Amino acid sequence: MKCIRCKKEAEVELKSHNAAFCRDCFLLFFYNQLNKAVKQFKMFDKEDKILIAVSGGKDSMSLWSALLELGYNTTALFVDLGIGGFSELARSKVEAFSDRFDAPLRVVELKKEGIPIPEVVKKIKRPACAVCGRIKRYYFNTEGLKGGFDVLATGHNLDDETSRLFSNVLHWKMEYLEDQSPVLPSEEGLLKKVKPFFRLTEFEIAAYAFFKNIDYLTSGCPFSKGATFSTYKRHLNRIEYDSPATKIDFYQGFLKNLRPLLNKKNKEELTRCRVCGYPTFGEVCFVCRLKGLA
Ligand code: SF4
Ligand code: ZN
Repeated sequence: MKCIRCKKEAEVELKSHNAAFCRDCFLLFFYNQLNKAVKQFKMFDKEDKILIAVSGGKDSMSLWSALLELGYNTTALFVDLGIGGFSELARSKVEAFSDRFDAPLRVVELKKEGIPIPEVVKKIKRPACAVCGRIKRYYFNTEGLKGGFDVLATGHNLDDETSRLFSNVLHWKMEYLEDQSPVLPSEEGLLKKVKPFFRLTEFEIAAYAFFKNIDYLTSGCPFSKGATFSTYKRHLNRIEYDSPATKIDFYQGFLKNLRPLLNKKNKEELTRCRVCGYPTFGEVCFVCRLKGLA
């Protein structure tokens, strides 16, 4: 198989793009998809201070690496969830990357905050991922605003976005569909959020990480067992295998045809937490309640 661009021996085949690339041409394709996403949705420019939410996994570490390579002004934020050896290993990968590339990194430790995930989950008996997601969002927004950042970037990829879309459509979760977009504008107390990898698949990001020799976390979180999105990912992968480009068509079709028709009618009004000022639906926000500050 030959690279469709330079005719050298190809190393990556991308059926959904009807293409095969050698290493150098694949990297050009990769940056091109990333740049297209950033431009199409006016995510950020070289003047902006970008906060990248990093977990130590392949996607966020690759996003950190690619935005650094492209010369953006980035700082990474790692929330140490306090989940034993899993969090320790994740943190060591993130810190090693920061040292290797002399890249700015901030760390929030949930143990120091008094709310490590395993303890919180035991105490309030709610699904770990729902609790963890809300706590992480809280720190991404509060740390981002405190640090004067313009935008929060996450490593969500095309597989994440299509599986979420698939789930939201199957169950007609209109309030979630309204919030599904590669870019969400800033609101009072909340940072603008962007997903620069939304055009790239897990496979393409893994290929980038491999070619760039990025050392990322491969072990899964002990709380991740039975996550529903992985079921949808599996089904979508089977459809994609039989019919390449279905995922990108599905997601781009949503952005073009349905997204513009959705308005925020299902959204409740937010108020401010009386303890910390974070946007919330009640009097006191979730994190302040967990900390027992109410
Ligand atoms: Fe948090 Fe769930 Fe992810 Fe574990 S799997 S890091 S608990 S969101
Ligand atoms: Zn609060």
